[in-house]
Amino acid sequence: MAAALYKTEAIVLRGYPFGEADRVIVLQTAEHGKVRDVAKGVSRGKSRLAAAAQLFTHGSYLLWQGRELDGISQADIVRQSHLLTADLGALAAASYAVELVDSFWEDRQEAPEAFALLRENLDWLSAGGPPGAPFLRRLELQVLAAAGFAPELEACVQCGRALAAEARYVPSRGGLCCPACGGEGRPVGPAGAAWLRALAGADLDRLPPPPGQGAADVAAALYSHVTYILGHPLRSRGMLEIL
Ligand SMILES: [Zn+2]
Repeated sequence: MAAALYKTEAIVLRGYPFGEADRVIVLQTAEHGKVRDVAKGVSRGKSRLAAAAQLFTHGSYLLWQGRELDGISQADIVRQSHLLTADLGALAAASYAVELVDSFWEDRQEAPEAFALLRENLDWLSAGGPPGAPFLRRLELQVLAAAGFAPELEACVQCGRALAAEARYVPSRGGLCCPACGGEGRPVGPAGAAWLRALAGADLDRLPPPPGQGAADVAAALYSHVTYILGHPLRSRGMLEIL
């Protein structure tokens, strides 16, 4: 019996060797969540699927359904991966974006918003958008929101009071707290809190610049929220710290 075929847009999150000649490619698809697909022959370097199996590639994939693993039958490439690997900053930011999506969503968990945000952010980096702090902080906020963990930024998440100048970010409570409720949290300062609010609704082409004070606290606060939810650090974060 012939394997069932299905077609979907997808982005390559990562890959690993499978047998001597093949690779398993982890794809974030538009309609079927995250799937693992065998790309036959790509480790031998002669497969016509080689470009479609590269990290960050966005393509239209024809996939076959297997019993345990699916496989790639054909692919039309929408955006090549090399646009993202030519620049070290873009590469580090793109690696962080795919690791965030890979970590927050499970295999087969339908998440069209995960695919959409990944496509938007990788397209922007491919087009030469700066991969600096405003991009990275907006990305973290976007991933948190899409995964159902949008941080509360307007009022104290605990008591609901309006936030005065000394707002603190408390990952275990899910956002900003007043000083009375968030004693153990990280102070982000009034400029940091304002930057968080501006980033949460910003378009990529209108990213609010980092404030003179509080940007590093916002970075630490959002990353601690990410790791609090995931329960582990992200590998790609190391490269960002170096850059
Ligand atoms: Zn409070």
